[in-house]
Amino acid sequence: MKTANGHEIIQLFESWSPKFFALEGDPIGLQVGQLNRQIQNVLVTLDVTLQVVQEAIDHNCQLILAHHPPIYRPLKNLRTDTPTGNIVELCIKHDIAVYAAHTNLDVAPGGVNDLLAEALELQKISILDETYAESVMKLAIFVPTTHSEVLRHQLALAGAGQIGNYDSCSFSSLGTGRFQPLDGSNPAIGQLNTLEQVEEEKVEVVFESSKKSKILKAMYEYHPYEEVAFDIWELDSKTNNQGIGRIGLLEQPLSLDEFAEKVKEQLKVPFVRIVGDATKSIRKVAVLGGDGNKYIQTAKRAGADVLVTGDLYFHVAQEAQLLGLSVIDPGHHVESVMKSGVSVKMNNLCEEKKYSCRFISSSISTEPFRVK
Ligand SMILES: [Zn+2]
Repeated sequence: MKTANGHEIIQLFESWSPKFFALEGDPIGLQVGQLNRQIQNVLVTLDVTLQVVQEAIDHNCQLILAHHPPIYRPLKNLRTDTPTGNIVELCIKHDIAVYAAHTNLDVAPGGVNDLLAEALELQKISILDETYAESVMKLAIFVPTTHSEVLRHQLALAGAGQIGNYDSCSFSSLGTGRFQPLDGSNPAIGQLNTLEQVEEEKVEVVFESSKKSKILKAMYEYHPYEEVAFDIWELDSKTNNQGIGRIGLLEQPLSLDEFAEKVKEQLKVPFVRIVGDATKSIRKVAVLGGDGNKYIQTAKRAGADVLVTGDLYFHVAQEAQLLGLSVIDPGHHVESVMKSGVSVKMNNLCEEKKYSCRFISSSISTEPFRVK
Protein backbone atom coordinates (compact mmCIF):
# COMPACT_ATOMS: atom_id res chain seq x y z
CA MET A 1 0.00 0.00 0.00
CA LYS A 2 1.24 3.50 -0.80
CA THR A 3 0.03 6.94 0.19
CA ALA A 4 -1.37 8.90 -2.71
CA ASN A 5 -1.51 12.66 -3.06
CA GLY A 6 -4.58 14.65 -4.06
CA HIS A 7 -3.64 14.70 -7.74
CA GLU A 8 -3.37 10.92 -7.87
CA ILE A 9 -6.70 10.46 -6.07
CA ILE A 10 -8.49 12.90 -8.38
CA GLN A 11 -6.87 11.34 -11.45
CA LEU A 12 -8.26 8.00 -10.29
CA PHE A 13 -11.71 9.50 -9.71
CA GLU A 14 -11.68 11.19 -13.12
CA SER A 15 -10.76 7.91 -14.82
CA TRP A 16 -14.32 6.97 -13.84
CA SER A 17 -16.09 10.33 -13.88
CA PRO A 18 -14.09 12.61 -16.21
CA LYS A 19 -14.61 16.36 -16.26
CA PHE A 20 -15.58 16.27 -19.93
CA PHE A 21 -18.82 14.45 -19.01
CA ALA A 22 -20.05 17.61 -17.25
CA LEU A 23 -22.69 19.83 -18.80
CA GLU A 24 -21.52 23.22 -20.05
CA GLY A 25 -20.91 25.89 -17.40
CA ASP A 26 -21.05 23.49 -14.46
CA PRO A 27 -18.46 24.71 -11.91
CA ILE A 28 -16.91 21.33 -11.19
CA GLY A 29 -13.42 20.41 -10.05
CA LEU A 30 -11.19 21.65 -7.25
CA GLN A 31 -12.95 24.53 -5.49
CA VAL A 32 -11.03 24.98 -2.25
CA GLY A 33 -7.42 24.27 -1.25
CA GLN A 34 -4.88 22.31 -3.27
CA LEU A 35 -4.08 18.74 -4.25
CA ASN A 36 -0.34 18.55 -3.52
CA ARG A 37 -0.83 17.05 -0.09
CA GLN A 38 -0.94 13.37 0.86
CA ILE A 39 -4.47 12.05 1.26
CA GLN A 40 -5.36 9.53 3.94
CA ASN A 41 -9.12 9.93 4.04
CA VAL A 42 -11.72 11.47 1.74
CA LEU A 43 -15.19 12.41 2.96
CA VAL A 44 -17.93 11.89 0.33
CA THR A 45 -20.94 14.17 0.71
CA LEU A 46 -23.90 15.48 -1.25
CA ASP A 47 -23.43 19.03 0.08
CA VAL A 48 -20.72 20.87 1.96
CA THR A 49 -22.07 22.40 5.16
CA LEU A 50 -20.23 23.49 8.31
CA GLN A 51 -21.29 20.23 9.98
CA VAL A 52 -19.88 18.25 7.06
CA VAL A 53 -16.53 20.09 7.27
CA GLN A 54 -16.47 19.36 11.02
CA GLU A 55 -17.13 15.69 10.22
CA ALA A 56 -14.18 15.76 7.77
CA ILE A 57 -11.96 17.23 10.53
CA ASP A 58 -13.14 14.56 12.99
CA HIS A 59 -12.32 11.76 10.52
CA ASN A 60 -8.92 13.18 9.61
CA CYS A 61 -9.96 13.81 5.98
CA GLN A 62 -7.72 15.93 3.78
CA LEU A 63 -10.26 16.06 0.97
CA ILE A 64 -14.02 16.45 0.68
CA LEU A 65 -15.61 15.09 -2.50
CA ALA A 66 -19.00 16.77 -2.92
CA HIS A 67 -21.72 16.33 -5.53
CA HIS A 68 -23.03 19.90 -5.21
CA PRO A 69 -20.32 22.53 -5.78
CA PRO A 70 -20.24 24.70 -2.62
CA ILE A 71 -19.19 27.67 -4.79
CA TYR A 72 -21.88 27.49 -7.44
CA ARG A 73 -21.90 31.12 -8.60
CA PRO A 74 -18.69 33.16 -8.79
CA LEU A 75 -17.91 34.85 -5.47
CA LYS A 76 -17.45 38.63 -5.45
CA ASN A 77 -15.67 38.52 -2.09
CA LEU A 78 -14.48 35.98 0.45
CA ARG A 79 -16.06 37.39 3.59
CA THR A 80 -15.92 34.81 6.30
CA ASP A 81 -19.15 36.14 7.84
CA THR A 82 -21.12 34.72 4.88
CA PRO A 83 -22.24 31.05 4.84
CA THR A 84 -19.96 30.10 1.92
CA GLY A 85 -17.04 32.19 3.23
CA ASN A 86 -17.40 30.54 6.61
CA ILE A 87 -17.21 27.05 5.07
CA VAL A 88 -14.17 27.98 2.96
CA GLU A 89 -12.46 29.48 6.03
CA LEU A 90 -12.96 26.31 8.09
CA CYS A 91 -11.61 24.14 5.23
CA ILE A 92 -8.53 26.31 4.71
CA LYS A 93 -7.78 26.45 8.45
CA HIS A 94 -7.73 22.66 8.54
CA ASP A 95 -5.93 22.07 5.22
CA ILE A 96 -9.00 20.40 3.72
CA ALA A 97 -9.46 20.59 -0.04
CA VAL A 98 -12.92 20.50 -1.62
CA TYR A 99 -13.51 18.92 -5.01
CA ALA A 100 -16.91 18.97 -6.72
CA ALA A 101 -18.17 16.34 -9.17
CA HIS A 102 -21.63 17.44 -10.25
CA THR A 103 -23.12 16.72 -13.68
CA ASN A 104 -20.09 14.64 -14.63
CA LEU A 105 -21.05 12.31 -11.78
CA ASP A 106 -24.70 12.34 -12.92
CA VAL A 107 -23.57 11.24 -16.38
CA ALA A 108 -20.84 8.74 -15.42
CA PRO A 109 -21.77 5.07 -15.79
CA GLY A 110 -22.41 3.91 -12.22
CA GLY A 111 -22.88 7.54 -11.13
CA VAL A 112 -25.84 9.27 -9.47
CA ASN A 113 -28.48 8.41 -12.07
CA ASP A 114 -27.43 4.78 -12.39
CA LEU A 115 -27.43 4.50 -8.59
CA LEU A 116 -30.99 5.88 -8.48
CA ALA A 117 -32.14 3.59 -11.31
CA GLU A 118 -30.64 0.60 -9.50
CA ALA A 119 -32.22 1.66 -6.20
CA LEU A 120 -35.61 1.66 -8.00
CA GLU A 121 -34.76 -1.84 -9.33
CA LEU A 122 -35.17 -0.80 -12.94
CA GLN A 123 -34.21 -3.25 -15.64
CA LYS A 124 -32.84 -2.73 -19.14
CA ILE A 125 -31.50 0.65 -18.04
CA SER A 126 -30.48 3.08 -20.76
CA ILE A 127 -29.66 6.78 -21.06
CA LEU A 128 -32.56 9.26 -20.96
CA ASP A 129 -30.86 12.19 -22.66
CA GLU A 130 -27.57 11.83 -24.50
CA THR A 131 -25.16 14.64 -23.66
CA TYR A 132 -21.80 13.30 -24.76
CA ALA A 133 -20.32 11.21 -27.54
CA GLU A 134 -16.81 10.95 -28.88
CA SER A 135 -15.88 10.93 -32.52
CA VAL A 136 -14.13 7.88 -33.89
CA MET A 137 -10.78 8.50 -35.58
CA LYS A 138 -8.73 6.45 -37.96
CA LEU A 139 -4.99 6.18 -38.23
CA ALA A 140 -3.14 4.69 -41.19
CA ILE A 141 0.61 4.22 -40.67
CA PHE A 142 3.25 3.08 -43.11
CA VAL A 143 5.82 0.91 -41.33
CA PRO A 144 8.59 -1.48 -42.51
CA THR A 145 7.29 -5.06 -42.33
CA THR A 146 10.15 -5.86 -39.92
CA HIS A 147 8.59 -3.53 -37.31
CA SER A 148 4.88 -3.87 -38.03
CA GLU A 149 4.07 -6.54 -35.47
CA VAL A 150 5.63 -4.64 -32.55
CA LEU A 151 3.93 -1.43 -33.65
CA ARG A 152 0.50 -3.09 -34.00
CA HIS A 153 0.88 -4.60 -30.54
CA GLN A 154 1.88 -1.29 -28.94
CA LEU A 155 -0.96 0.58 -30.66
CA ALA A 156 -3.39 -2.00 -29.26
CA LEU A 157 -1.91 -1.54 -25.76
CA ALA A 158 -2.48 2.21 -26.12
CA GLY A 159 -6.16 1.50 -26.83
CA ALA A 160 -6.32 1.54 -30.64
CA GLY A 161 -8.48 -1.01 -32.43
CA GLN A 162 -11.25 -1.48 -29.85
CA ILE A 163 -14.53 -2.25 -31.59
CA GLY A 164 -17.43 -3.43 -29.42
CA ASN A 165 -16.32 -6.52 -27.53
CA TYR A 166 -13.12 -6.87 -29.56
CA ASP A 167 -9.70 -5.37 -29.13
CA SER A 168 -6.46 -5.42 -31.19
CA CYS A 169 -8.48 -4.84 -34.40
CA SER A 170 -6.38 -3.64 -37.34
CA PHE A 171 -6.07 -4.05 -41.07
CA SER A 172 -2.82 -4.34 -43.03
CA SER A 173 -1.92 -4.11 -46.69
CA LEU A 174 1.53 -4.55 -48.18
CA GLY A 175 3.30 -2.11 -50.45
CA THR A 176 6.52 -0.32 -51.22
CA GLY A 177 7.71 2.79 -49.45
CA ARG A 178 10.25 5.11 -51.11
CA PHE A 179 12.38 7.91 -49.73
CA GLN A 180 15.71 9.65 -50.17
CA PRO A 181 17.53 10.75 -47.00
CA LEU A 182 18.97 14.27 -47.38
CA ASP A 183 21.80 16.07 -45.58
CA GLY A 184 20.98 16.48 -41.89
CA SER A 185 18.86 13.33 -41.75
CA ASN A 186 19.62 10.30 -39.62
CA PRO A 187 17.83 7.47 -41.44
CA ALA A 188 17.04 4.18 -39.70
CA ILE A 189 17.28 2.49 -43.13
CA GLY A 190 19.20 3.66 -46.21
CA GLN A 191 22.08 5.94 -47.20
CA LEU A 192 22.32 9.71 -47.60
CA ASN A 193 21.28 11.04 -51.01
CA THR A 194 20.33 7.56 -52.24
CA LEU A 195 16.80 6.65 -53.23
CA GLU A 196 15.63 3.84 -50.97
CA GLN A 197 12.85 1.27 -51.43
CA VAL A 198 11.46 -0.61 -48.44
CA GLU A 199 8.81 -3.28 -48.14
CA GLU A 200 6.22 -1.62 -45.91
CA GLU A 201 2.90 -2.44 -44.34
CA LYS A 202 0.06 0.04 -44.15
CA VAL A 203 -1.55 -0.53 -40.76
CA GLU A 204 -5.03 0.92 -40.18
CA VAL A 205 -6.67 1.22 -36.78
CA VAL A 206 -9.68 3.06 -35.34
CA PHE A 207 -9.85 4.66 -31.89
CA GLU A 208 -11.81 7.10 -29.76
CA SER A 209 -10.67 10.71 -30.19
CA SER A 210 -9.85 11.04 -26.46
CA LYS A 211 -7.10 8.43 -26.95
CA LYS A 212 -5.42 10.32 -29.80
CA SER A 213 -2.41 11.69 -27.91
CA LYS A 214 -1.70 8.35 -26.20
CA ILE A 215 -1.86 6.49 -29.52
CA LEU A 216 0.33 9.00 -31.39
CA LYS A 217 2.86 8.79 -28.55
CA ALA A 218 3.00 4.98 -28.93
CA MET A 219 3.29 5.35 -32.71
CA TYR A 220 6.31 7.69 -32.49
CA GLU A 221 7.94 5.54 -29.81
CA TYR A 222 7.70 2.22 -31.68
CA HIS A 223 8.07 3.30 -35.30
CA PRO A 224 11.71 3.03 -36.39
CA TYR A 225 11.73 5.97 -38.83
CA GLU A 226 12.95 9.46 -38.07
CA GLU A 227 10.00 10.84 -40.05
CA VAL A 228 6.86 8.75 -39.62
CA ALA A 229 4.45 8.74 -42.56
CA PHE A 230 0.85 8.50 -41.41
CA ASP A 231 -2.67 9.73 -42.14
CA ILE A 232 -5.13 10.53 -39.39
CA TRP A 233 -8.74 11.59 -39.80
CA GLU A 234 -12.09 11.80 -38.09
CA LEU A 235 -14.78 9.35 -39.15
CA ASP A 236 -18.47 10.14 -39.45
CA SER A 237 -19.40 8.00 -36.45
CA LYS A 238 -19.55 8.41 -32.69
CA THR A 239 -18.77 6.17 -29.75
CA ASN A 240 -18.72 6.19 -25.93
CA ASN A 241 -22.20 7.73 -25.82
CA GLN A 242 -23.09 9.03 -22.37
CA GLY A 243 -25.93 11.07 -20.99
CA ILE A 244 -27.99 12.35 -18.14
CA GLY A 245 -30.96 10.57 -16.55
CA ARG A 246 -31.85 6.93 -17.03
CA ILE A 247 -34.87 5.06 -18.29
CA GLY A 248 -35.76 1.45 -17.57
CA LEU A 249 -38.52 -1.03 -16.91
CA LEU A 250 -40.14 -2.31 -13.76
CA GLU A 251 -40.15 -6.08 -13.54
CA GLN A 252 -43.93 -6.00 -12.94
CA PRO A 253 -46.24 -3.13 -13.83
CA LEU A 254 -47.46 -1.25 -10.74
CA SER A 255 -50.16 1.37 -10.25
CA LEU A 256 -48.77 4.88 -9.87
CA ASP A 257 -49.55 4.89 -6.15
CA GLU A 258 -47.96 1.47 -5.64
CA PHE A 259 -44.88 2.69 -7.46
CA ALA A 260 -44.86 5.86 -5.31
CA GLU A 261 -44.74 3.60 -2.23
CA LYS A 262 -41.80 1.76 -3.77
CA VAL A 263 -40.00 5.06 -4.42
CA LYS A 264 -40.51 6.09 -0.77
CA GLU A 265 -39.17 2.79 0.50
CA GLN A 266 -36.25 2.37 -1.87
CA LEU A 267 -35.08 5.97 -1.73
CA LYS A 268 -35.80 6.21 2.00
CA VAL A 269 -37.89 9.39 1.95
CA PRO A 270 -40.85 10.17 4.24
CA PHE A 271 -43.11 11.40 1.43
CA VAL A 272 -43.26 12.03 -2.31
CA ARG A 273 -45.32 14.49 -4.39
CA ILE A 274 -47.26 12.81 -7.17
CA VAL A 275 -48.64 14.08 -10.49
CA GLY A 276 -51.04 11.65 -12.20
CA ASP A 277 -53.89 9.26 -11.51
CA ALA A 278 -53.42 6.85 -8.61
CA THR A 279 -54.38 3.80 -10.68
CA LYS A 280 -52.40 4.57 -13.82
CA SER A 281 -50.29 1.56 -14.81
CA ILE A 282 -46.53 2.18 -14.61
CA ARG A 283 -43.98 0.04 -16.42
CA LYS A 284 -41.46 2.38 -18.02
CA VAL A 285 -39.71 4.68 -15.55
CA ALA A 286 -37.45 7.65 -16.22
CA VAL A 287 -35.29 8.91 -13.38
CA LEU A 288 -33.18 12.02 -13.12
CA GLY A 289 -31.55 13.03 -9.83
CA GLY A 290 -31.70 16.66 -8.74
CA ASP A 291 -33.79 19.20 -10.59
CA GLY A 292 -35.39 17.56 -13.63
CA ASN A 293 -37.87 20.29 -14.57
CA LYS A 294 -36.32 20.60 -18.02
CA TYR A 295 -36.75 16.91 -18.80
CA ILE A 296 -40.55 16.54 -18.86
CA GLN A 297 -40.72 16.55 -22.67
CA THR A 298 -37.65 14.30 -22.93
CA ALA A 299 -39.19 11.71 -20.62
CA LYS A 300 -42.48 11.86 -22.54
CA ARG A 301 -40.70 11.44 -25.89
CA ALA A 302 -38.73 8.49 -24.50
CA GLY A 303 -42.05 6.77 -23.75
CA ALA A 304 -41.81 6.95 -19.95
CA ASP A 305 -44.99 6.37 -17.93
CA VAL A 306 -43.50 8.31 -15.04
CA LEU A 307 -40.53 10.59 -14.37
CA VAL A 308 -38.93 10.47 -10.94
CA THR A 309 -37.19 13.77 -10.30
CA GLY A 310 -36.78 16.50 -7.70
CA ASP A 311 -37.59 20.20 -7.26
CA LEU A 312 -40.70 20.01 -9.45
CA TYR A 313 -42.26 23.43 -10.13
CA PHE A 314 -46.02 24.04 -9.97
CA HIS A 315 -46.31 24.99 -13.65
CA VAL A 316 -44.07 22.17 -14.82
CA ALA A 317 -46.28 19.76 -12.87
CA GLN A 318 -49.30 21.18 -14.74
CA GLU A 319 -47.45 20.79 -18.05
CA ALA A 320 -46.72 17.14 -17.22
CA GLN A 321 -50.42 16.64 -16.42
CA LEU A 322 -51.36 18.03 -19.83
CA LEU A 323 -48.82 15.77 -21.53
CA GLY A 324 -50.17 12.72 -19.71
CA LEU A 325 -46.81 12.08 -18.04
CA SER A 326 -46.89 11.11 -14.39
CA VAL A 327 -44.21 12.58 -12.15
CA ILE A 328 -43.00 11.54 -8.72
CA ASP A 329 -40.94 14.08 -6.81
CA PRO A 330 -39.07 12.44 -3.92
CA GLY A 331 -37.03 15.63 -3.29
CA HIS A 332 -33.53 16.63 -4.28
CA HIS A 333 -31.91 14.93 -1.30
CA VAL A 334 -32.35 11.43 -2.81
CA GLU A 335 -29.12 12.17 -4.64
CA SER A 336 -27.41 11.36 -1.32
CA VAL A 337 -27.39 7.80 -2.68
CA MET A 338 -24.10 8.97 -4.24
CA LYS A 339 -22.37 9.00 -0.84
CA SER A 340 -22.18 5.24 -0.47
CA GLY A 341 -22.04 4.63 -4.24
CA VAL A 342 -18.96 6.82 -4.72
CA SER A 343 -17.29 5.51 -1.54
CA VAL A 344 -17.64 1.86 -2.60
CA LYS A 345 -16.49 2.54 -6.16
CA MET A 346 -13.49 4.64 -5.10
CA ASN A 347 -12.40 2.26 -2.33
CA ASN A 348 -12.33 -0.52 -4.94
CA LEU A 349 -10.31 1.62 -7.36
CA CYS A 350 -7.89 2.61 -4.55
CA GLU A 351 -7.44 -1.03 -3.62
CA GLU A 352 -6.62 -1.92 -7.23
CA LYS A 353 -4.04 0.88 -7.32
CA LYS A 354 -2.73 -0.13 -3.86
CA TYR A 355 -3.47 3.35 -2.48
CA SER A 356 -3.95 3.37 1.28
CA CYS A 357 -6.53 6.17 0.94
CA ARG A 358 -10.05 5.47 2.31
CA PHE A 359 -13.27 7.06 1.12
CA ILE A 360 -15.79 7.65 3.92
CA SER A 361 -19.48 8.23 3.34
CA SER A 362 -20.71 11.27 5.26
CA SER A 363 -23.30 10.35 7.88
CA ILE A 364 -24.75 13.86 8.01
CA SER A 365 -28.08 14.46 6.29
CA THR A 366 -28.03 17.71 4.33
CA GLU A 367 -31.81 17.58 3.73
CA PRO A 368 -32.98 21.09 4.71
CA PHE A 369 -36.70 20.16 4.85
CA ARG A 370 -38.72 18.76 7.69
CA VAL A 371 -42.25 17.49 7.17
CA LYS A 372 -45.09 18.11 9.62
ZN1 LIG B 1 -28.35 17.85 -7.26
